[in-house]
Amino acid sequence: MSETESRPLHELPLEQLLACHECDLLMRRPVLAVEQKACCPRCGYELLARRSQMERRSLALVLTALALFVPANFLPIMQLDLLGQTTRDTVWSGVLGLYDSGMEAIALVVLLCSMVVPLLKLLCQLLVLLSIRGRRALAWGRWLYRSYHHLREWGMLEVYLMGILVSIVKLMDMADLTLGVGLFCFVALLLAQVWLEVTMSPQQVWEALEDDDARP
Ligand SMILES: [Zn+2]
Repeated sequence: MSETESRPLHELPLEQLLACHECDLLMRRPVLAVEQKACCPRCGYELLARRSQMERRSLALVLTALALFVPANFLPIMQLDLLGQTTRDTVWSGVLGLYDSGMEAIALVVLLCSMVVPLLKLLCQLLVLLSIRGRRALAWGRWLYRSYHHLREWGMLEVYLMGILVSIVKLMDMADLTLGVGLFCFVALLLAQVWLEVTMSPQQVWEALEDDDARP
């Protein structure tokens, strides 16, 4: 048994300790190999994960998500044929429609949660990854990554997607409905974002954002 393993928790330096986010259990920080993860022994919450080629894979995913952002929001989600009239709806036209109907507050919330916040989140992730890759502006990178964690609470693409799916099911009986390219881009954007969150391991990002001279 090494000296660190035999010492009681209260004698260990802070960087060798780890607290579970869910149940607050305090434990020794495990040393992980690539593609290993550590779960809390009490509640099973995933504490740490070490992904291989985290920066390159995350960068590819963030660029994919940014490329999908414009078609997901500005290409038709669905085409509706009702009584000889055809309308094509996009996320953006939905926001404008709400605004024109006098629901300015709801239009603003939809605009923020479905377009502005998801875009800011992706830009934060992109800049953090570029800062890590170039080993430049690391203090800005840390600030941006903290901001990203605050923004996460406001992005609600998945809620918006559920709303779209519910309206599609309801409208199917009332009108001739065709799914548009925008919907597929929207689903792909959501999947790319989820995959990105899994790949971009927070522990690895924070470690990479440390100043070289501040490392122990
Ligand atoms: Zn726990």
